[in-house]
Amino acid sequence: MRDRISEALGRPAAQQPPWPDPEQVRSVSAFLATLPPLVTPDQVRRLRGDLAQVARGEAFLLQGGDCAETFAGNTPEHVRGTVATLGRMAAVLADEAGLPVITVGRLAGQYAKPRSRPVDGLGLPVYRGDIVNAAAPDAGSRVPDPVRMIEGYRNARATLGMLRSGHPADVYTSHEALLLDYERALLVTDPDEPGRPYAGSAHFLWIGERTRRPDGAHLAFAALLANPVGVKIGPGTRPDQVAEYVERLDPDGEPGRLTLISRMGSTRVRDVLPPLVERVAATGRQVVWQCDPMHGNTRESAIGYKTRHLDDIADEIEGFFAVHHALGSHPGGVHLELTGDDVTECLGGTRGITAHGLTGRYESLCDPRLNADQAMEVAHRVAALSKG
Ligand code: PEP
Ligand code: MN
Repeated sequence: MRDRISEALGRPAAQQPPWPDPEQVRSVSAFLATLPPLVTPDQVRRLRGDLAQVARGEAFLLQGGDCAETFAGNTPEHVRGTVATLGRMAAVLADEAGLPVITVGRLAGQYAKPRSRPVDGLGLPVYRGDIVNAAAPDAGSRVPDPVRMIEGYRNARATLGMLRSGHPADVYTSHEALLLDYERALLVTDPDEPGRPYAGSAHFLWIGERTRRPDGAHLAFAALLANPVGVKIGPGTRPDQVAEYVERLDPDGEPGRLTLISRMGSTRVRDVLPPLVERVAATGRQVVWQCDPMHGNTRESAIGYKTRHLDDIADEIEGFFAVHHALGSHPGGVHLELTGDDVTECLGGTRGITAHGLTGRYESLCDPRLNADQAMEVAHRVAALSKG
C-alpha cells in the first residue's frame, strides 16, 4: 500500500506550494499522521451508499459552502449560517421536488486554493489558502508555512465540533483534494477494507479543474481512495477524457463512486455537456452528474470585483437540466459557493445586488458566494426544474 501511495504521489503534481524547507514539511507531515482522522470509515461508507442512490436517480446531491474557508472565519455563527442555509435549501428541494436530498458542505477543510498565476496584481506570491500562507498583502505573509497544515487540521476539528453541537448531524464534509502533503498525512487504513486507504480529511474529496491531468498525482491519489470522489470538468473537457476518468476512478463500476462536476459556463453547457454525458452512458457506469454553475460564470465588475450574476448561474443550471432531460440521464445535483452571511459578492437576485452594491459587504478572499437569499432563490429554481 505504501508503495502504491508513493507511486501515485510521485507523479507530476500541479499547484503545490513552494515550501521553503522540505525537512519541516516532513516533520509536520509525520506529526499530522499521528493524529486521529477527522472522519470515520463508517461515515464514508454511509455516504457511498447515499451517493449510489443519487447515481441511480433516486436522490439529489446538494453541496455548498465557502470558496475558501478561513481560520479567522471559522466561528460558530459562520458555520451555523452555512449549515442552516444548506438545510433550508435541502428542505425546499425535498418538499418541492420530492426526492431525498444528500447534503455535503464545503466545510472543515476547504482551505487550499488553486490559483491561475503564481504572483498577484501587486507582484507578491499568491495567497494559496489559509492552510498554506496568509492573505495579507506583504511578502512575509505569503511565504508558505507547513505548520499551517496543523492549524488546518485543528480548525477542521473545531468545525466538526460545531457541526455536532446543535445541527443535524447528517451534513457530510468535503473539500478540494489539492494539498497532497496534508491529504497523504491523513490517510487511514480500515481493517475491514485493508486494500484501499481512506482519506481521513473529509467524507468526499474532489479534484479541481486545474489539477485533473490524467497522468498527474491528483488523479492517481483519488484512484487509490475508498472515499467517493469528484472531478471538476470545464468547457475544454473531451469525451475521451471523461471516459478515462470513469475507467480510472470507478474501475469496479460502483454507482456513485465518481461524481463528475460540470462547470462549463452558461454559454457553453448546452454544447459541451451532451457528448460527455453520452460518452459516460456508453460505458454503462453510473456516475453522479453534478452542476457547478459558479466557476464557469466568473467575471470582473467595472471596479475590479470578481463576481457572478445570478441570471448566469440560473441559466447554466437550466442548461444542465435540459441536457440531462433530453438524454434521459439524471441531473444529480448542484455544487455551489454560498454562505449564510448577508454578503454582497454575486450580482442579481430578488434584492437586486448591483455592480455598485458589491462594495457593501464583499468578504470572500477568493471567489464570490451567493448570500442566503440568493442561495434560496437558486434552491427554488432547482426544485422547479427537478419537478420537470
Ligand atoms: C473551487 O471549487 O473553488 C474551484 C477552484 O473550482 P474549479 O477547480 O472548478 O475551478
Ligand atoms: Mn471557488
